[in-house]
Order: sequence, then C-alpha cells, then structure tokens
Amino acid sequence: MKIAIYPGSFDPITKGHLDILNTATLIFDKVIIAVAHNSEKHGFLPVETRLKLIQESVKGLENVEVDAFEGLTINYAREKGASVLIRGLRAVSDFEYEMQLSQANSSLAPEIKTVFLTTKPKYNFISSSTIKEIFLNNGDISKFVSEPVFDYFSNLQ
Ligand code: ADP
Repeated sequence: MKIAIYPGSFDPITKGHLDILNTATLIFDKVIIAVAHNSEKHGFLPVETRLKLIQESVKGLENVEVDAFEGLTINYAREKGASVLIRGLRAVSDFEYEMQLSQANSSLAPEIKTVFLTTKPKYNFISSSTIKEIFLNNGDISKFVSEPVFDYFSNLQ
C-alpha cells in the first residue's frame, strides 16, 4: 500500500491545495493531508479550525485522511508508514525553496521521496496568503476556496 503525506500550513485550505490533493488520490492508495504546526508560531487560523475546514472540504474523497503533526515531516512520515511526500509547485519562485526542502529531507530520510505536483492553470496562482489578503480587504474569495471555507470566512465578518 503506497501512502503519501501532503504536508503544509493550510491556513486556510484553498482550491489549489484541493486540486493537488485530488491528483494525489489518483496516484496513491492513501493520502494523509497533514497540518504542520509549531506550538510557538501561531498562524491566522487555529490548527483545530484548519483541520475542521480541511475535513469538511475533502468529504467525498475516499482515500484521504486528515491529521496534524509537529516536528520533522520525515519523522511523521515514518510514523505513518508513508514513503512519499507531496508538494505543490506554483511558480519558479516556489522551486528554490521546495528543492532545498526536498533535498534536506532526502538526505535525512533517503527512503522517503518527494513528488511535486501542479494544479490546473486556473488554480495555479492561489495561495493561502493571497486569500487572506483579499478577505482582509473585503474582496470576494468564493472562487478560490471550498464552500465550507467560504462560509467560515463569511461568518468572521
Ligand atoms: P507551506 O507553509 O508548507 O508552504 P502551504 O499550505 O502554503 O504550506 O502549501 C502546502 C503545499 O501546497 C506547498 O508545497 C505549496 O507549494 C503547495 N501549494 C499551495 N497552493 C498551491 C497552488 N495553487 N498550486 C500548486 N501548489 C500549491
């Protein structure tokens, strides 16, 4: 059974993340989408909220599990018996950081491979920070996030 971890901040989950996740579910037997958090660094949304919004957004995807972890992703992957890490690439600007991260991970855990996926062009530019920026300036985020995320943000106003 090929298990893949899709780690990230997901603060909040976007349609870009969901597109990557959807593709990953077609390739692997099980995909664990995992919120990487650090108890000393707080994001925009609490981890519990991020998890709830992911859970509501992935309903209907059968081979997906939702979880959170602290510490090194490779340790978490080993704990879960996963052999693959999924990361997404948007622009060339992502490449340098993602390359460094995957090489560091591969040096620490050669048995765990990183697989890079891209989204459909219409989701390519979406990032959690763009969503927050649009929302905080009263823009419409409905095209970029799932319904549960949109409803959650609408209730914040
Ligand atoms: P992190 O803080 O670990 O970068 P994010 O939640 O921002 O967490 O992103 C998780 C992963 O999803 C990263 O590999 C990121 O490049 C990828 N990703 C996010 N949005 C998109 C998108 N629109 N297209 C492709 N990849 C994406």
